[in-house]
Amino acid sequence: MASQEIEALANALARLPGLGPRSARRAVLWLIKRRETAFAGLVDALATVRENLVECPICGNVDTTSPCGICADPRRDARALCVVEDVADLWALDRARLFTGRYHVLGGRLSALDGVRPEDLNIAGLLTRVAAGGIDEVVLAMNATLEGQTTAHYLAERLEAYPLRLTQLAHGLPVGGELDYLDEGTLAQALRARRPVS
Ligand SMILES: [Zn+2]
Repeated sequence: MASQEIEALANALARLPGLGPRSARRAVLWLIKRRETAFAGLVDALATVRENLVECPICGNVDTTSPCGICADPRRDARALCVVEDVADLWALDRARLFTGRYHVLGGRLSALDGVRPEDLNIAGLLTRVAAGGIDEVVLAMNATLEGQTTAHYLAERLEAYPLRLTQLAHGLPVGGELDYLDEGTLAQALRARRPVS
């Protein structure tokens, strides 16, 4: 039986997504065996991120700089905006390395069941960005779930009045599929074949 402190570490790791108690114990043992080298890197990385973590005031991404690395990158195409539900979706799409524009994170999806209304999401921020002009295309990259599609439909209505191309990810995404779980190739394909919102 490990000490209380080691147990506490294993319990904390076990709460991470994708790690159960068994994997967490293995991770702790792995760290203990390499305590001379592995701990310092992990502790430093955790502390650095924890101290510098900020939500981007422009797009809602989380990063260690403000604005985030994507918003601050002059090579990014400011005329294309990809709207996503969560930061996880932004990261997933950006890993696919196909979309060269910028992003907007809503912070969730509309849900009658969970009582999430338009004013609970960062839709006002999106409309402000679009109204400021200079955006030619808005990609509605919602998850292929009922709530995701309801959200996309709502946004399409709100954005209808603006002179821009409204597109959505191509069909072929698995129904009920969350972007974060898709591989980069599938995401890149869905982006490449994006189509106008009908
Ligand atoms: Zn940003």
